[in-house]
Amino acid sequence: MTRKIKIGNVVIGGGEKIAVQSMTNTKTSDIDATVAQLRLLQDAGCDIARCSVPDRESAEALRSIVAQCDMPIVADIHFDYRLAVAAADAGAAKIRINPGNIGDLAKVDYLAKYLKERGVPIRIGVNGGSLEKKFAHLPLDDAMVESALEHVALLEKCGFEDTVISVKSSDVATTVSAYRKLSQRCDYPLHVGVTEAGVYEKGLVKSAIGIGALLLDGIGDTIRVSLTDDPVREIHAANEILKALDLYRGAYAEVVSCPTCARTCIDVQGIATAMQEFAAGLDCKLKIAVMGCVVNGIGESKDSDVGVAGGKGKSVIFRKGEIVRTVANEDILGALKSEVLACVHERQDQLGALR
Ligand code: SF4
Repeated sequence: MTRKIKIGNVVIGGGEKIAVQSMTNTKTSDIDATVAQLRLLQDAGCDIARCSVPDRESAEALRSIVAQCDMPIVADIHFDYRLAVAAADAGAAKIRINPGNIGDLAKVDYLAKYLKERGVPIRIGVNGGSLEKKFAHLPLDDAMVESALEHVALLEKCGFEDTVISVKSSDVATTVSAYRKLSQRCDYPLHVGVTEAGVYEKGLVKSAIGIGALLLDGIGDTIRVSLTDDPVREIHAANEILKALDLYRGAYAEVVSCPTCARTCIDVQGIATAMQEFAAGLDCKLKIAVMGCVVNGIGESKDSDVGVAGGKGKSVIFRKGEIVRTVANEDILGALKSEVLACVHERQDQLGALR
């Protein structure tokens, strides 16, 4: 079990909810654009967001950004400890910086003490593509682990242990191996992700495999799906990964649907897509099935709370594998929605009776 660390109003580690992260791609100095993107991220389910702080103007902009956003903001700093101090002073809830890159123990010590006094943690972020030369003789996974632990040791030397670590590579197997090894060597919370994963589908698949494998091992306290895309899509993807592993905290309705085949009698794709949009607004744990035929559909999804199985001209609506109605195919969507709503109301009544 990792230790707990507080990042603003979010606690990570020690079995807490796995926090979902993303990063803005606006200029941080453009306060309005950055705040607008942060709000979209938060609305999508982001727990913690990172902003690059390449210069003093960006560090200053953080003050206004943090004041307008109730999600913890992480300042991403390269090398310059003075920017890290300025970002923390402006209200950043965490600083991403590699202390070994600051270049002087006295500066590291100053920063560590400054952040410790203010309860601001540090994330050490080791990337496979930018490792110190001294680790070049090691396999990449080992090199990332050794590099991360050296940064950690530097902070510990300065009495700082409020640390989160990431060891990301663009190669999935290397990333997974590095995190597995690192998790055996320390109890600091781990920020997990595959870096430079690529454009949407490619990045999504690599992230789902890498992050998913680690989460199944019980490794990972915060996650980021890195996509060359709108950061809001990173949040949707991260939450889908958590849902697929039953690690998502919160009630939601899930739509499952068959892949369709020659037996398909109804527009499975159209109905499933419409139901997905409908289900997105439901604050209730529910499984809804859209299946193309009655031959396999009902049996294969008998664990679903509500479902439809297509037939010629008429289809059946079922609950937990039991047929409750037969409807004309053109009426499926309306019938399915009303059956789902009836199910939601029954759940609410059951919950009300328990209170
Ligand atoms: S549920 Fe029926 S239509 Fe859908 S894939 Fe299976 S057999 Fe084909």
